[in-house]
Amino acid sequence: MAKKDYYEVLGVNKSATPEEIKKAYRKLALKYHPDKNKGDKEAEAKFKEASESYHVLSNKERRVNYDQFGHAAFQGSGGRGGFSNFDFSGAFSDIFGSDIFEDFFDGFSGRGGRQRRSSDFRGADLRYDLSITLEDAYIGKKQELNFSSSEKCNSCNGIGAEPGSKPVSCSTCGGQGSVRSSQGFFTIQQACPGCSGSGEQISNPCKNCKGLGKKQARKKIFTNIPKGVDDGTRIRLSGKGEAGVKGGGNGDLYIFVSIKNHSIFKRSEENLFFEFPISIADATLGATIEVPTIDGGKAKVKIPAGTQNGKQFRLKGKGMPMMRNKEYGDLYIQAMTEVPVSLTKEQKKLLEEFKKLEDNKTNPIMKDFFDKAKRFWKN
Ligand SMILES: [Zn+2]
Ligand SMILES: [Zn+2]
Repeated sequence: MAKKDYYEVLGVNKSATPEEIKKAYRKLALKYHPDKNKGDKEAEAKFKEASESYHVLSNKERRVNYDQFGHAAFQGSGGRGGFSNFDFSGAFSDIFGSDIFEDFFDGFSGRGGRQRRSSDFRGADLRYDLSITLEDAYIGKKQELNFSSSEKCNSCNGIGAEPGSKPVSCSTCGGQGSVRSSQGFFTIQQACPGCSGSGEQISNPCKNCKGLGKKQARKKIFTNIPKGVDDGTRIRLSGKGEAGVKGGGNGDLYIFVSIKNHSIFKRSEENLFFEFPISIADATLGATIEVPTIDGGKAKVKIPAGTQNGKQFRLKGKGMPMMRNKEYGDLYIQAMTEVPVSLTKEQKKLLEEFKKLEDNKTNPIMKDFFDKAKRFWKN
């Protein structure tokens, strides 16, 4: 029998978000769970099918593989472990190990009395918005970051109990960290409200941190902003976020980089762009002009005679550095001919004399257009 499409099984489309996938699976799992459908083979098969689909689609790497190769991604000699022999128990712990299902399904799986993991006490991640100039993005820079964050209390070492005293077992949950309650078909296991899941209570809180295990502090750190960063680049500083407590690790600090608008250069990924004004005379006769480059220097550009408005020139390697390799993008400049204004009497006279000498040869675009217009008016 051909295997059903995992997305179809869960009733979601291919672009479903992880949240949507979780939600869809949760619904099916509740409906077909074996505890609720004792002896119903069809329900059991449906439950397995849904669990298998979720097992694959809830994992980024597995999902990418599946999207690319379909069921073949998990079959045959690839050594990836065939889902034709889907190990249900393995998938079970995998699925029910994920946070959203823990409270929900612990009652079924019979894994009672689980202590909350130390990762639950990990510090929060922080976001730091950093706005830099395009020149800074070009050369990279050492950046000072000033922010307020929590750090581990050094008096109690993050435990929250006054030095010399010890946390005691929580009286609400007996040190289990979780409590159970029954709701209809389900036994729901939740983090203990008495100890927030730690299984411990502090009778003599640390005076330095009031038992929180951490304290707010101003922080100043330096970090390197690599050259080539773009608007929207995120830089992760591992462990520089909020302090963890009770043995939990620190959160991370994410720097969200934005690039200020530049008065001359516009950026598109690694390439730069600007329009440069050029006089009618230079565009007509040809000229060598100097234009600014992002490194603060100048570049000479030869403008050939007869350069039309909008003509683009490429200056190779004069763009932004790329973060992935050591290469540079290009600078594209576009000619914008400027029609002269505020002419003197003499300038006007000269131009009028030139006008008398203009013909079809000097203005082929104009000739072409009015030839078409004439034909249009005739019909
Ligand atoms: Zn303390
Ligand atoms: Zn408790």
